[in-house]
Amino acid sequence: MAPGSVDRDHSQTRATAAALSKPSPTDRLYRIVEEGLCIGCGLCEAVAGPDRVVMAKTSSGYLHPTVVGPLDHETVDVVYDVCPGTRIDGLPQHLVAEDTNVDNVWGPWRRIVRAWAGDPDVRHEGSTGGVLTALGQYLLTSGRVQAVLHVKASVDEPTFGQPVLSLTEADVLEGAGSRYGPTATLTDIYEVLDRELTLAFIGKPCDIAALRNLARHDERVDDLVRYWLTPVCGGFGTPSVTERFVRSLGMETEELTGFRYRGRGCPGPTVATTADRREERHYLDYWGDDESSWALPWRCRICPDGIGDSADLAVSDTWPGGSPTRQGSADDPGVNAVVARTVAGQDLLESAAADGALTIDYDITPDDMSIYQPHQMHKKYAVDARFRALGDAGRIVPETNRLRLAELAGELPVSINRYQRDGTARRLAQGKGTEPRPPGPIGSM
Ligand SMILES: Cc1cc2nc3c(=O)[nH]c(=O)nc-3n(C[C@H](O)[C@H](O)[C@H](O)COP(=O)(O)OP(=O)(O)OC[C@H]3O[C@@H](n4cnc5c(N)ncnc54)[C@H](O)[C@@H]3O)c2cc1C
Repeated sequence: MAPGSVDRDHSQTRATAAALSKPSPTDRLYRIVEEGLCIGCGLCEAVAGPDRVVMAKTSSGYLHPTVVGPLDHETVDVVYDVCPGTRIDGLPQHLVAEDTNVDNVWGPWRRIVRAWAGDPDVRHEGSTGGVLTALGQYLLTSGRVQAVLHVKASVDEPTFGQPVLSLTEADVLEGAGSRYGPTATLTDIYEVLDRELTLAFIGKPCDIAALRNLARHDERVDDLVRYWLTPVCGGFGTPSVTERFVRSLGMETEELTGFRYRGRGCPGPTVATTADRREERHYLDYWGDDESSWALPWRCRICPDGIGDSADLAVSDTWPGGSPTRQGSADDPGVNAVVARTVAGQDLLESAAADGALTIDYDITPDDMSIYQPHQMHKKYAVDARFRALGDAGRIVPETNRLRLAELAGELPVSINRYQRDGTARRLAQGKGTEPRPPGPIGSM
């Protein structure tokens, strides 16, 4: 054996070992899912292309990416930069006009009001007071945009949502009502952008963050998306709880022909239908009587932005304490709170009110928002410590910008930050932030 050949063999072994231990592009994509950070928006499918990544229902019941074709690191780098599990930014700085107020919890705001849809039918149909639906319709009828990208109930899986491009008032109305199931809002975003229509986008705060992320990679987003509207979001319901709920009605999710979480009143009933039956329960029968009973995905539990920091308008419920009461909701017509963050958002709010599309009740403040949304306030304060626990555990720590998380943690006593950090560490150790690896990859890698 020639001198040096043993070393060369060893170095080859080391190189092979290094290549084996280096995560593959698929490993890196799946890491987002396995660490409980995937919210199922579908933007990775759009970025990678459906020949490589498709959103599919996994064994845990969520919609997550499944790798179906050869992925490369460059594509996964883009996914990490646009995924709202790995990057969430506040409002782009150039949209924060000089005279905008900034509240550490509630973010940039120019005006906050209580309001509802001017049309009583839209108010009734809507999740709360129909404001998002009324604004979507108004944006179309006033010619401000040509289409509204938002979601409606999934046809195939009625407890889920699916994206829809609405061109008429009737289309927008069809999407009214909150969907508390998995919803891949952005899977088709490139097809939508290819149509070159001016757009309003209505999506959860994480959907908004994802689309804002995409704007850094595709200039058509800022060119075409003229209005960004969001429901304030405490998180959606876990599929396992929804399934259990459906079973408690004596039905199986597979036989559902329709499922409405809320709307038609505030919050309105939760309604499940099959070919031959209809069952109706109170909203609180689905969610439980208070926050302690909410079953949420891990990503929602550690969400740094449930308040729609980067939207033009964020729209919420107005129940003091964050939940309705059984007595109070019987004939509640629905009142939204609307946070206008940008000049465009404020102009939209005020024009819609002037033209009768909205009725403004009266102005309120960030402190009122915290009364309506104590869970959002608590989470916003706690996120920095929760993210530190992710870092301690060697997990992905989502990148955030302009969300004031460190400032909020700095307002808390050290003992509270420690409590939050320890609590998250304990939950991670119990496996609460861990999802099974999606099936696949299917096909050659
Ligand atoms: C998952 C989730 C959690 C929420 N948590 C809170 C909370 O913690 N506090 C609070 O005050 N309000 C919360 N809301 C918002 C609240 O339920 C109402 O949506 C909000 O008050 C707007 O009411 P509206 O009557 O104007 O909406 P509507 O006029 O009924 O319009 C709702 C719009 O939201 C879109 N939409 C519905 N579901 C989804 C979804 N899953 N993903 C993307 N877009 C969707 C629809 O397409 C529609 O355009 C949540 C909503 C959702 C979807």
